[in-house]
Amino acid sequence: MASRYTSLDEIHGIIFDAPDDSDDSIHSWDEDSNEEISDPHEAEDVQNQNLQRDFGNEEMHSTSEIRVPTQNRNRSSGKRQTVPEINWGDLDEVVNVAYPEFSGPQHGPVHSFDVDSEPVVFFDQLFTDELWDLLVTKTNRYARQANVNNWVDTTQEEIRCFIGFLFGTSINKNSQLDDIWSSDWVVASPAFAHFFTRDRFWALLSNIHLADNEKSVDRNHQDYDKLYKIRPMVTILKQSFQTNYSLGQNVSVDEAVVKGKGRNPVKQYMPMKPKKRGSKLWCIGCSCCAHLWDFQLYAGKEKGTAEQGFGTYTVGTLRSNRLGYPKCLTDKSLLKTMKQGDHHSTTTEGITETVWKDTKDVSFLSNVHSSMGQDNVSRKKQGGSVVAITAPTVVKDYNKNMGAIDKNDQLKKTYAIDRKSKKWWMSIFFHLLDVCRLNSFIMHQQCYLSWNSGPVEEDVAPRMDQKSFTSKLVKSLCGTYTSRKLWLPLFVTQFHISLCIRP
Ligand SMILES: [Zn+2]
Repeated sequence: MASRYTSLDEIHGIIFDAPDDSDDSIHSWDEDSNEEISDPHEAEDVQNQNLQRDFGNEEMHSTSEIRVPTQNRNRSSGKRQTVPEINWGDLDEVVNVAYPEFSGPQHGPVHSFDVDSEPVVFFDQLFTDELWDLLVTKTNRYARQANVNNWVDTTQEEIRCFIGFLFGTSINKNSQLDDIWSSDWVVASPAFAHFFTRDRFWALLSNIHLADNEKSVDRNHQDYDKLYKIRPMVTILKQSFQTNYSLGQNVSVDEAVVKGKGRNPVKQYMPMKPKKRGSKLWCIGCSCCAHLWDFQLYAGKEKGTAEQGFGTYTVGTLRSNRLGYPKCLTDKSLLKTMKQGDHHSTTTEGITETVWKDTKDVSFLSNVHSSMGQDNVSRKKQGGSVVAITAPTVVKDYNKNMGAIDKNDQLKKTYAIDRKSKKWWMSIFFHLLDVCRLNSFIMHQQCYLSWNSGPVEEDVAPRMDQKSFTSKLVKSLCGTYTSRKLWLPLFVTQFHISLCIRP
C-alpha cells in the first residue's frame, strides 16, 4: 500500500483552519486605559510534568490530534456537515514501516557562530534590531500619547536592560516585583534595584508597547486585526525562528496555551487543559531538540501563511466522533472484547486508522504507517512494577516524536517570566520573550555539540545549562546600565571643567 504524501499546505489547512473548540466570545472593551500591572507570580496551574504520554489520559491526546470537523457541529449555519463517503477496507498487508530518507537541510542553526559565543549573540540573532527599535519607538510614542507624567524617553540600552531585568527576576523568583526595592533587607534585591528606581521600572512596564494605537483599524472594519497589539512581534519572531534554524526530520504539531485572564479578544476555553482559559497557539517544533520553529496565535484564519517547498508525512490522534471516522472501529461489541495492548486497523487511500487499547481506547490516523508492526510500550502498574504492553508501531513513533511542544513549554517554564498583567497581550509578550530565550539556548546547545565534536579532552567550550545560559544573557543585556543618577562622575566632570576655565 502506498503512503499518501501530505503537503505542508494541507497541514496548515488542518491545524490553522481548525474548528474552534472554545467559547469564542469577543469582548468589546478599551484595554488601553493605562491599566496597572499587578505583580506577584500567579499560582501555577497543576501541569502534567510527565513528557511520556499516557494515552489513558484524555487531555493529553486531545492536544495533539489531527483536527477534522466533528459530526454534529456547524455553529454558523446550524446544519449538519456532510463529507464524501469514505470506503475503509481491511489492512491485510504486513510490511516493515520504511521512512523516507531525509533530504532536508542540515538540522540546527543556519548560521555558524564563533566558538564559545556569548548567549546574547544567540539571543540577538533571534530578537532582531528591528524588534528592539520597535519596542523603543512604540513605547515612547505610547507614553507621549498617554501624557504620562514626567516621562523621559527610553533608549535601546534601557529597554535591553529592562528585558534582562525581567529574565533575571524570573531566575531569582522574587515573589513580588515591589520586594526588589523593599527596605526589608530579607526580601529586597539590591543587585536588581541598582538598575532601575522603582518608579522608572513601573513606568516602563506600564507603557511598553509594540504597536501604534493611532494606526489601529476600527474593530468593525474588515481589516481589523484582533492581534494588532502583539502582531509586529509575532511576525518578526516567526520569521526569525524559521530563517535561523533548520528542523530535523521529525516535527511535532501541537497547541500551547498561554494563560491569561481579563478582556482577551482571542481567549479560548479549553476544558480538557490544565490551563482552561487563555490564548491558544498552534505550534510546530522540532521533535529531537524541542526548538519552536513556527507558531500561530489562534484568532481565525491568517492570510497567506501557508508554507510550501517540502512535503511531510503525518501521524496524529483522532477522536472517534469526527466526520469520516471509520464506522467499523466504533463497533461497541468489537471494542468491548479488546484487552489492553490489542488493536484494530483499517485503511483507505494510503491512510491507516488504528484503534489501540491502553487504559482507554486511543485512535491514530497515519499516512506513513502502511503496516501495523508490533512494538512495546512500558506502563507502570500499581505497586511500581513496570510491564510491557504490546502496541502497533504507530503508537511508538507517535510517542517518540510528539512531545516537542510540551517539552519546549516545560523547559521554558522553569525560568519563565510569568508575571500577571491586566493587559491581555502582555502575557503573550512575556511568553514570546521566554520562547525566544529558550530557542536561543537550544541553538547554543546545538553549537556546543559541533564546537566539541572532537575528542572529549579537546573540548573547546564549556557546557552550559539553561540557568547559567540565562544568567549570562541577563548580565549581557543589563550591562552597565542604570536609571539612577550617578552623582560622582557628574561632580568630577564639573570639577574638571572648573579647573579648565580657571584663569
Ligand atoms: Zn531538532
